[in-house]
Amino acid sequence: MAYEKLTAPKNGDAIAANSDGTISVPNHPIIPCIEGDGIGPDLTKAMVRVIDAAVKKVFGGKKSIVWFDVYAGEASVAKYGENVWLPDDTIQAIKDYKVAIKGPLTTPVGGGIRSINVALRQILDLYACVRPVRYFSGVPAPVKEPEKLDVIIYRENTEDIYKGIEFKEGTDDAKDMIKFLKDRYKKEVNFDSGIGIKPVSIQGSKRLVRMAIQYAIEKKKRLVTLVHKGNIMKFTEGAFRDWGYEVAVQEFRDHVVLESELDQHGGKLPAGKVLINDRIADSMFQQLLLRPDEYQVIATLNLNGEYLSDACAAQIGGLGLAPGANIGRPYAVVEATHGTAPKYANKDMANPGSLILSAVMMLEHLGWDECARLVIEGLENTIKAKTVTYDLERQMPGATKVSTSQFATHIIEKINAAK
Ligand code: NAP
Repeated sequence: MAYEKLTAPKNGDAIAANSDGTISVPNHPIIPCIEGDGIGPDLTKAMVRVIDAAVKKVFGGKKSIVWFDVYAGEASVAKYGENVWLPDDTIQAIKDYKVAIKGPLTTPVGGGIRSINVALRQILDLYACVRPVRYFSGVPAPVKEPEKLDVIIYRENTEDIYKGIEFKEGTDDAKDMIKFLKDRYKKEVNFDSGIGIKPVSIQGSKRLVRMAIQYAIEKKKRLVTLVHKGNIMKFTEGAFRDWGYEVAVQEFRDHVVLESELDQHGGKLPAGKVLINDRIADSMFQQLLLRPDEYQVIATLNLNGEYLSDACAAQIGGLGLAPGANIGRPYAVVEATHGTAPKYANKDMANPGSLILSAVMMLEHLGWDECARLVIEGLENTIKAKTVTYDLERQMPGATKVSTSQFATHIIEKINAAK
């Protein structure tokens, strides 16, 4: 664990990777933390205080998080030099310690790295983008019953159209592709087309669905829905559905019942089992609006997942309280889903909710579910009491505006007062 410009904390231990890709968590895990740019430092300070309070309340010092500051974005450029947006030290630290948290990062304009977030996902093979979406009482939302939506979306993070295989209209490559499709497959494509290729693999699909089903079993959820557009794209989206069902039957037979098997059980899901069904993507958007409480865990391809995550977040009142995690085996990086909001940098104003809820995902990933529960309750009760940051205050009649740090203090008070 030799670093160029980092010194790892001495008072903690590394999370270990098991041979099956799962992790073993010591009592004092070292967690690399990228505080992020813009509002990132304010949010990170608040998040660390809240998480430390919950862990202390539950374990009374027997367990703790040992935070390890590592760098990316503008802080990295300042420390490591021009154009070093994601230093090797940071990648190495995440590989050494397995689970990390990051605040929002500036995407450099006109040169440098294309996106630090994308680079992290690729280098660490963080193949699942996981987005839980649930309503917090009191937050203004555009639908009548936002509390009925409580889902977790597993979005495949590495392939589909995001693989980036594209040929620009008018180039020789695009013309070659069009000619090839015509000569070889008798498929007509307009001569003035750009071409994009959508790869979807067995391995990529199965490992994503496997993770979603494992989550459902561990957290005692009753339903995993495979979302796809297989009626049109049979060999990519349709195949994703088929491979998803294959994983369910071949690897989790004792735990799952397929929708097509429900008749054998009198139309009712037997106790303790997880139902696996599938829905066409466009119908799923309607379903989540009209019958949100019928869905729990969603496993889907990359593009569908991006649309669905943001649509669901909007349904419960916006992206401000939406956390995210990029999870692979064995690495995981949890992150706020919003950007750096530079105009609020260092003003102690912005809402730390998304980063705090990302840290909740990290606690759940470590298996520290009781700490996670306390933080969620604390946040929920703080919002219910209408003591909120400016972004929520301006939409909530009768609310009291508090700073980022005061908001954290309110959550901590509620954690400390919890039974
Ligand atoms: P943004 O930083 O998300 O900010 C847009 C607006 O959203 C803010 O002006 C603010 O709205 C609101 N907002 C965002 N986070 C908030 C918070 N925690 N609390 C309260 N309000 C919040 O989007 P952007 O201005 O397009 O992007 C700025 C930089 O962030 C860019 O460099 C972009 O590439 C980067 N970015 C990074 C990530 C990431 O690291 N995951 C994600 C997205 C963007 P009001 O002004 O209306 O109050």
